[in-house]
Amino acid sequence: MQIFGEELESLREAGLFRSMRLIEGGQSSRVILDGREVLLLCSNNYLGLADHPQLKEAAIKAVERFGAGSGAARLVSGNMELHVQLEERIAAFKGTEAALIFNSGYAANTGIISAIAGRGDLIFSDRLNHASIVDGALLSRAKVIRYPHNDIKALRRLLEEHRGTVGRRLIVADGVFSMDGDLAKLAGLVTLKEEFGALLMVDDAHGTGVLGEHGRGSAELCGVMDRIDIHMGTLGKALGSFGAYAAASKEIIDFLVNKARSFIFSTSLPPAVLAASIAAFDVVDSPTGADLRKRLAANSCQFKEGLEKVGFNTMGSETQIVPAFVGGAEETMEFSRRLLDEGIFVQGIRPPTVPVGSCRLRCTLMAAHTEADVDRAVTAIAHVGKQLGVTGC
Ligand SMILES: *Cc1c(COP(=O)(O)O)cnc(C)c1O
Repeated sequence: MQIFGEELESLREAGLFRSMRLIEGGQSSRVILDGREVLLLCSNNYLGLADHPQLKEAAIKAVERFGAGSGAARLVSGNMELHVQLEERIAAFKGTEAALIFNSGYAANTGIISAIAGRGDLIFSDRLNHASIVDGALLSRAKVIRYPHNDIKALRRLLEEHRGTVGRRLIVADGVFSMDGDLAKLAGLVTLKEEFGALLMVDDAHGTGVLGEHGRGSAELCGVMDRIDIHMGTLGKALGSFGAYAAASKEIIDFLVNKARSFIFSTSLPPAVLAASIAAFDVVDSPTGADLRKRLAANSCQFKEGLEKVGFNTMGSETQIVPAFVGGAEETMEFSRRLLDEGIFVQGIRPPTVPVGSCRLRCTLMAAHTEADVDRAVTAIAHVGKQLGVTGC
């Protein structure tokens, strides 16, 4: 019986059908894809911690000492020493009173937003926010007001328009926008939230461990660490492990423990993952971490300048996420296929992840890339771009 055949076919026809590629072996700057070694340019393992010896060793030791699973949700019997240790570490890292671990960034955003906001409240959400923020806002039943991307003036007008209303106001934004690689205007957001008595939540999935002198994230980079109500971040990207967190006041964390359904009704993270995350903070806080951040920033700069020199639009990227604008879905996927022939693995990004007509190659740099790797990637992208007539150079 065919139930979804037609819908699947129309996805295929529109060039929007998605499927998974298989990586053999571990995650480093080169991976084995379909039996062949390729240069990886689409991983969020920015600092190379996913296969770092210190994280692996911590995970193995934790399994030996505490076992494989946690056995229950935190509020039942799944609250182990490692959960508490990791939360203390996160709170210290972000300079907040407390922190709470979630099982993933997706679970964090849906849980936090739907707890903080409800019917009669207002959520002001950047148009380019991550899908998990969009879903959390939907789940909350609050009124969602999407403001034009990074447009502080427009957000001010919207806040003024709704000045007289009762209920909570939550402003929420990605710290680093995941498909464009640009930064939220945090100084502007902080000013507005203080002026209008709103709560501010920043999703720093791509800034945590990477941005700021100590890797504390986009808020450190913008000098507003202590002016954000809820710092959300993930542990599966630069930190090389898995899971996510909210860092905030003790009051907000107590509230989330009682109200965030994705926290309450889900088995807690297992020991190996928690121990790896703690080890990841050790690396991020060490001189090695500072070196890795420097390497990553240098690679990002070299790559972005290289692409721009051969005529690509990098869409305002300011970080290790560097998009190369292509336009249509079909040509973007063809671009990505041809790059693979040249030994470069980059994903094309299509709707619904990005707006129609703004398909792109979403390239991500790693600290482990060498200068020669970056050169090779730029050359290959320029070459395929020329073949497909995507750039004028
Ligand atoms: C990846 C990502 C998430 C989801 O985090 P996971 O831990 O992968 O579920 C949330 N927000 C942003 C901005 C992200 O890029």
